[in-house]
Amino acid sequence: MTGRAPQEGGARDAARALFVDLTGREPDGLWSAPGRVNLIGEHTDYNDGFVLPFAIPQRTVAAVGRREDDRIRVRSTFAADAVEVGIGELDDLFPTREGQEPGVPEWAAYPLGVAWALRQATDSPGPLPGGVDIAIASDVPVGAGLSSSAAIEGATASALDALWDTGLDGAALARIGRRAENEAVGAPTGIMDQMASMLGEPDAAIFLDCRSLETRVVPLPVAASGLAILVMDTHVKHAHSTGGYRERRASCELGARIMGVPALRDLSVADLPRAQERMDDVTFRRVRHIVTENQRVLDTVRLLDERGVRAIGDLLVASHASMRDDFEISTPELDTAVDAALAAGALGARMTGGGFGGAAIAVVEQEAVGTVSQAVNAAFAAAGFATPLLFPVTPSAGAHRDA
Ligand code: ADP
Ligand code: MG
Repeated sequence: MTGRAPQEGGARDAARALFVDLTGREPDGLWSAPGRVNLIGEHTDYNDGFVLPFAIPQRTVAAVGRREDDRIRVRSTFAADAVEVGIGELDDLFPTREGQEPGVPEWAAYPLGVAWALRQATDSPGPLPGGVDIAIASDVPVGAGLSSSAAIEGATASALDALWDTGLDGAALARIGRRAENEAVGAPTGIMDQMASMLGEPDAAIFLDCRSLETRVVPLPVAASGLAILVMDTHVKHAHSTGGYRERRASCELGARIMGVPALRDLSVADLPRAQERMDDVTFRRVRHIVTENQRVLDTVRLLDERGVRAIGDLLVASHASMRDDFEISTPELDTAVDAALAAGALGARMTGGGFGGAAIAVVEQEAVGTVSQAVNAAFAAAGFATPLLFPVTPSAGAHRDA
């Protein structure tokens, strides 16, 4: 049996109801942004490299209304209490000092950080923009590697952009979200998640060059190819802001420094033997993952253009092996999900997201979703792992106004 998919669309009603509960009136509008799955290209973003994410149907919704004063209040179904600050206080709260906790509950640093970053970007010393109430609800599983963080940033940024009339485009709002996450929350993440959440399109992936920030919409007609992409959430939570992620970044920076290049993006597979001579084994394996992963993203885009979704399975499998063996960010649960899906006939499978837990994906025949799911559940049971949450996704629309 496939697990029940996180409900799609339920967040709209929940956000509206929460807004009414908070304010006693109807919101001025609803804005939403999706979570994302990265098809391939992991940890390449902060190495100026390539990624290929797509937006998923699950979304975070912000129900937003103007206030008479210049205060900003945020509330989420995710937390018990609302958090309220004066808009003028945002500049005192953020950026959060390195190694410190944000001056508000962590979840509230996402939407309030977006408000702060948006004000910084549009920086006018003039009057404060009007106050707002923001009520947030989400269908995106949190901490599963599906980027609930980009979804809350994208929904908030889209809403405030409209209400404050800042007129930024999707890519600019993605940068606002990233700044909030980096400087208000204090999580040193790249730009991929926000770009996918803002710019995603149905039946397509977003190829992103993380150096130039140029994007290209790449056809990913999963359903029309008779296929499904199965998300396998292991329920093992990762903690991006801590340990492993920072360490991997540091290794990548060290590798680039040793090779005398601005970023690992500037190395190709042909440079690897030279890299191996110059650095310790661990740093080399981190470098090799990034360099080969960048090439795999380019190869995936080419195969999608030339031969379609069915052709990319082997690249997904190679990507997983590289993350497991070279970058060492997989977990026994993720490996079990990938191995069981492949053994049950998936065309390709890999862990997705930052690693240390979260979710894996498998490309499977539509009619095999049931058997592959059964096989994964059985493998988890045999290993004594908690039952995973399995649900198919299709590439979906990016951020937009809902009502
Ligand atoms: P991921 O993006 O993979 O889901 P992150 O750790 O990057 O995991 O982001 C999860 C965090 O984002 C949560 O712990 C919470 O602080 C915040 N967040 C995400 N969605 C919501 C929401 N609907 N309401 C409040 N906070 C949220
Ligand atoms: Mg995140």
